[in-house]
Amino acid sequence: MAVTSSSMMLLRNLPTVGRIAQSVRANSRIFSAGEIIRVLPRIASPRSISSTRAAHNEEAAAKAASDTGAPTIFDKIIAKEIPSDIVYEDENVLAFRDINPQAPVHVLVIPKLRDGLTTLGKAEPRHIEVLGQLLHASKIVAEKEGIVDGFRVVINNGAEGCQSVYHLHLHVLGGRQMKWPPG
Ligand code: AMP
Repeated sequence: MAVTSSSMMLLRNLPTVGRIAQSVRANSRIFSAGEIIRVLPRIASPRSISSTRAAHNEEAAAKAASDTGAPTIFDKIIAKEIPSDIVYEDENVLAFRDINPQAPVHVLVIPKLRDGLTTLGKAEPRHIEVLGQLLHASKIVAEKEGIVDGFRVVINNGAEGCQSVYHLHLHVLGGRQMKWPPG
């Protein structure tokens, strides 16, 4: 039977994977299927994940996730029940570093109160103020990170848009030359 290199990697890291799986099970209320898909391979093969594989992970995570309205891992981050690397915070907005950065600077900007904004597609007129606050906070983050002269703000919307966490978030990316069109 052919054994792929990623299977070998997984076998070598079985004790680690087991511990993570245990922790994931213990915290199953806060991890979506998508989040588990993203985290496990990264821990199983910490040495190198090509950008192609990272992209596939994101797609798999997005396909596994769904907009159920259930709390997400971001609720735990807002409540400071799990750690995050906070870059900026005010009354309405929290910005913290992405756990799986796609650029030297990769910060997520989220509303502290989700208020139905699982996706941008759910936005209603009552959300206009917080949407403006999120964009303004993104600019503050870019300034704090020293990338205000060249950065990108991305919102992934729904499975086809590669969204895997259903709590509206803006990705603030920079610190390298961005390409166009995006993948
Ligand atoms: P999206 O795919 O647009 O829904 O983005 C979700 C983002 O959340 C991904 O880029 C993940 O890497 C990131 N993410 C998931 N869990 C965490 C976490 N605990 N801390 C920081 N970022 C996270």
